[in-house]
Amino acid sequence: VEIAALVEENLRLVPDFPMQGVLFRDITPLFANGPAFAELVALLANRYAGKIDMVAGLESRGFILAAPLAAELGIGMIAIRKAGKLPGPVVGVDYALEYGTGRLEVQPASVPKDSRVLVLDDVLATGGTAKAACDLLSQCGAHVVEVAVLMELIDLKGKDKLAEIPFVTAVQVR
Ligand code: IMP
Repeated sequence: VEIAALVEENLRLVPDFPMQGVLFRDITPLFANGPAFAELVALLANRYAGKIDMVAGLESRGFILAAPLAAELGIGMIAIRKAGKLPGPVVGVDYALEYGTGRLEVQPASVPKDSRVLVLDDVLATGGTAKAACDLLSQCGAHVVEVAVLMELIDLKGKDKLAEIPFVTAVQVR
């Protein structure tokens, strides 16, 4: 089994969520499917074993992916959160959203200096969130090994925003 098949078989398409005109890719069914979820984590662990020191999850679905992977590999998880959720000290970075701006924060104490970090999330859309996470981790002295997502919305060209940062996705959709 490959990650792409697990994603495609456990995906729900939700029209007009969270707003009119948006087709939301909901991967919650994959988390609810025990055997598929376990297989997903095993495949991720196989890919990254020995290659990373930490895994960073992006709030909120990135947490659901990053935590079991970290536990499986016996490494630590870094929580990258929306503004105001983490007790300080934190460092933050502002980034552009489709409408307005967002802010991500991390506790530098959770990021070992010179550590090799995987950034994990469910979907790459405009790439703003993933890029902001990478900037934060760099600011904290970590090395981003790769940004990995289950699904890339290719028309939004988020990969371009990541520039030279290695990027991998299981599935590409328009
Ligand atoms: P970006 O910053 O535009 O790349 O948006 C990515 C963030 O929004 C990620 O944290 C995703 O979880 C979330 N996101 C955007 N579009 C979708 C979608 O269709 N399904 C699930 N999450 C999405």
